Amino acid sequence: MSEHLVPLDRRSWVDYEADCEFPIQNLPYGIFSTARTPEPRVGVPIGDRLLDLSVLFDAGFLPGPDVFHRSSLNSLMSRGRPYWTELRGRIAELLDASCPRLRDDDILASAAFVPLAEARLHLPVEIGAFVDFYSSEQHASNVGRMFRDPNNPLLPNWKHLPVGYNGRASSVVVSGTPIRRPNGQTVKAAEGPPSFGPSRQLDFELEMGFYTGRANPLGEPLAIADAGDFVFGFSLVNDWSARDVQRWEYAPLGPFLAKTFATTVSPWVVPVDALSYFRTAGPTQDPLPLPYLRTPTPWHFDLHLGVDLEVSGARYPTSRTNSRHLYWSCAQQLAHQGVNGTNVQVGDLYASGTISGDAPDSYGSLLELAWRGERPVSVGDSGETRVFLIDGDEVVMTGYGQGDGFRIGFGECRGRVTPAPGIER
Ligand code: MN
Repeated sequence: MSEHLVPLDRRSWVDYEADCEFPIQNLPYGIFSTARTPEPRVGVPIGDRLLDLSVLFDAGFLPGPDVFHRSSLNSLMSRGRPYWTELRGRIAELLDASCPRLRDDDILASAAFVPLAEARLHLPVEIGAFVDFYSSEQHASNVGRMFRDPNNPLLPNWKHLPVGYNGRASSVVVSGTPIRRPNGQTVKAAEGPPSFGPSRQLDFELEMGFYTGRANPLGEPLAIADAGDFVFGFSLVNDWSARDVQRWEYAPLGPFLAKTFATTVSPWVVPVDALSYFRTAGPTQDPLPLPYLRTPTPWHFDLHLGVDLEVSGARYPTSRTNSRHLYWSCAQQLAHQGVNGTNVQVGDLYASGTISGDAPDSYGSLLELAWRGERPVSVGDSGETRVFLIDGDEVVMTGYGQGDGFRIGFGECRGRVTPAPGIER
């Protein structure tokens, strides 16, 4: 597959520190607007600035057609991998320390750059379908130990296919959107009867997600070898979950209202090419999966992931893990989704499932961190503990790849819990 890797020693004329999330090697895409220009358009952050691609396009610096005066990345994504490579190369060139075209043109540069802190960031993709997988062995094992058989936590299918379900695309929101606690049916005893009211077991799920930038016709299965042409880029995902609602409703068809009230994504879509520095083989898969799920290409990524809780204005580290812990790779998830001939479309979002590591402080949900309520989690030195989220808690997810002297980050995936709507009794 053709990739545009910005050389590791490439420097930009835009200044930033070594731990900046947005160096010239990253160049993620997002949709933004400003107070002065309220029309949403495509932007790329570098350092603490945001490059307005609609301005660069109007100035004749970017390859056409116009996919930049847009309120989503879908048009850009639908142009396909050769265009992705060309565009990324062109942007890197304009930002290169040796390139004078933007650097020395004060009028163009002042029109093309916006302080990142002043930009309003929008949902980057018009999402047609949202699928959530269950691809972390440690997470699936933890849940199996808690609710089924401690000695045999994985179901028989788990190591043969990436288990997943169809979620709800319409309630995917961008980082910063408040999350209203849902009402729903919950039970005290396993057999019911249910009562109705605010979920008392609201949880986060730390996940990665990828967006597809290519479609396949209905009835024509896609092949794992083509994953590089389908996977456009990645974001962080918080798959908010109402555990008490989930426990009562999920049998026998799986998650429903416990998941569909909201899902938060980070605002930037980090291109696969920017993550290629961190490609890794992932865990050995035993038993060997069926041929349609096999690929010699390494499709796991060594990315540091974290969850912090913001409580009463202070921020506390709550979980630290890594996306290389996933058992099933994004290419395998995509190949499984498409093997029956369903039509993957431009702008689909595929989330990994909760990512948990081996250590108890590397679990990706409060359900696991507090082990079903048995081990309340200390919120830093605040004196508070959590079993599940309470109103006012803000969940902040972060992720980055650490290179030698540079860092490629995702930006925050943030959401604050607000009280449930009033109930008509
Ligand atoms: Mn999930």
